[in-house]
Amino acid sequence: MRPTSVHNQEAFSSQSETLLQIQNLKTYYPVKGGFFKRTVGHVKAVDNISFEIKKGETLGLVGESGCGKSTAGRTILRLLKPTEGSILFDGKDITKISGKHLREIRQDMQMVFQDPYASLNPMQMVGDIIAEPIYNFHKKSKSELKNEVMDLLEKVGLPPDAYYKYAHEFSGGQRQRIGIARALALRPKLIIADEPVSALDVSVQSQVLNLLKDLQEEFDLTFLFIAHDLSVVKHMSDRIGVMYLGNMVEISDKNSLYAEPLHPYTQALISAIPNPDPRHKKERIILTGDVPSPINPPAGCPFHPRCPMAMEECSKSKPTLKEVKPSHRVACHLY
Ligand code: SF4
Repeated sequence: MRPTSVHNQEAFSSQSETLLQIQNLKTYYPVKGGFFKRTVGHVKAVDNISFEIKKGETLGLVGESGCGKSTAGRTILRLLKPTEGSILFDGKDITKISGKHLREIRQDMQMVFQDPYASLNPMQMVGDIIAEPIYNFHKKSKSELKNEVMDLLEKVGLPPDAYYKYAHEFSGGQRQRIGIARALALRPKLIIADEPVSALDVSVQSQVLNLLKDLQEEFDLTFLFIAHDLSVVKHMSDRIGVMYLGNMVEISDKNSLYAEPLHPYTQALISAIPNPDPRHKKERIILTGDVPSPINPPAGCPFHPRCPMAMEECSKSKPTLKEVKPSHRVACHLY
């Protein structure tokens, strides 16, 4: 069974094996300028983040658009080259591998994208889209392949005749089910889901989220679940990391994070979640100013120009992520 209670979450940290360990990961994009197109600076999209995910766990990654969460996901999958740091997957350092070794690792790490339509080939039948990764890695007979694809269609809740149709014949939610079936085809250990429901109607979002939860249990999956919607992340995750301007500013089990957010940025994000119960009125924290440019991030705490609690020290030194409660780490000088 997939652990969900606080007790079980504690069991994760003490007993479960680590599947993914990220240490001091940086992903910088060069900024070119001048007549000779020299590198004149860097976009610090991911700026020194560290975290781990236990086997069978879901870690949610949240933050505003541009905070680096999607870049972090793509770097972990090695779709982007890390600038510094290490990515340990199932005990192996995959930071610098390439060619055949990277191809092998990719069987165990798959991605579910935000826009399922853009990631599905419109010229291919759905059956072929799902069969392609299996065919590329395991030479199977046509009938074996077809049986596997039919099985996957059933698992994601699509009818058998979906095999012969094309992506444009399906609704957004059904297309995301096709994307999920393809991601599952190689029986991966880790799925990185990057805003998997944000392009879908609210009415179908929960169906897709519940499908992901059911598949996690059935296939023993580990998830890195990236989203900007805190209610969605709360529904899906065991632990949650909050990113701001390429930095991890807080990471904790979800109950502790929602009950007592410690970082002023997390407090502002959580205060913006609408409460369906009108008896529980809470004050919304409105942040002023824009997110600074990741090309020229502020000195000291990256959040200090917008932080309602900022002190003199905050513009001078950058706080590091430290554990202030069991399994609850925060990067802020207040603690
Ligand atoms: Fe705010 Fe200072 Fe904490 Fe940064 S370190 S979040 S500026 S109080």
